[in-house]
Amino acid sequence: MTASIDPGGDSHGPAISVTGLRKSYGSLEAVGGIDLTVQRGEVFALLGPNGAGKTTTVEILEGHRERDGGEVNVLGHDPEHGGRAFRQQIGIVLQETGVEPYLSVEETVALFRGYYPDPLPLEEVLEVVGLTEQRATRVRRLSGGQQRRLDVAVGLCGNPELLFLDEPTTGFDPSARRDAWEVVRNLSSLGTTVLLTTHYMDEAESLAGRVAILARGRIVAEGRPDELIQGDEVVTISFRSPGRHATLLDGITNAATSDGAVTIHTTTATATLFELTRRATERGVELEGLTVTRPTLEDAYLALTAAEGTESAETSEGGESAGGTASGSR
Ligand code: ATP
Repeated sequence: MTASIDPGGDSHGPAISVTGLRKSYGSLEAVGGIDLTVQRGEVFALLGPNGAGKTTTVEILEGHRERDGGEVNVLGHDPEHGGRAFRQQIGIVLQETGVEPYLSVEETVALFRGYYPDPLPLEEVLEVVGLTEQRATRVRRLSGGQQRRLDVAVGLCGNPELLFLDEPTTGFDPSARRDAWEVVRNLSSLGTTVLLTTHYMDEAESLAGRVAILARGRIVAEGRPDELIQGDEVVTISFRSPGRHATLLDGITNAATSDGAVTIHTTTATATLFELTRRATERGVELEGLTVTRPTLEDAYLALTAAEGTESAETSEGGESAGGTASGSR
């Protein structure tokens, strides 16, 4: 096991730097030698199917699980030996946080701020998570989305340089998700580094500057979402009587007609659309149901994880539980 890198921490260099990280539970290799770098101020998303090794990796980075091998540097510390100084520099927002239901929002934030030597000002915490108006509301009266924002508030109280956000919007309705995304953007504008795990590809695409996709304990792709998204754009037109308009497609490659719908795979969607609309306009034909779709991060993710094969691994005999699981002030 490597020794502590810099007990006092380090305000330069990447926020997270991982080389050759390995962790097994009994005979099951959960993390099989991953390399990862997260720069300061980045929002970085760790993606992957169930059992891919995300939680194991994140818990090692948080200092709540021991690794079997590899080098790990988080804010200049080896998380296994970082101690109090390390814990005061990070914030953790788990999927479930045990906050006291009878306290108000403000009392909750004040309580958690009290655990830190240099907490974020109370007003700022409330503002970043959008709970200023609910400051006097009891926790049990908050909506699910507001409670989740309070979880983030708790993780933020210590003014962390790095915040771990575990599936921050699971179970949210669409508008609560957008609100939560706004919170992450606010954090990012404060300069906080965010390591996010999520199963929602649109969330990763919208929030993360870079993502890493894990499958079976290995990183199968890493980069900016737009770098990982590959493939043709697809132009679709649905005619009620496609036979009458077949000549519109003369000379247009990669066009296929099925059930009255024409799909055209193209790497030059603008030129294809221009040609189609020119022909249609000349002939007075309406291009019904015209759509252009671009591949998404979800398409890239599904292709990458399918290629790796993602059946859940068999249960191992070597179970082990992580250390503390409370949020914020461990
Ligand atoms: P999910 O998306 O479902 O949370 P994950 O990507 O976070 O999955 P991990 O929780 O890191 O994946 O699990 C990786 C593998 O290690 C899985 O096969 C899991 O069953 C196994 N595993 C995780 N924790 C333990 C443990 N404490 N003891 C034994 N096996 C474990």
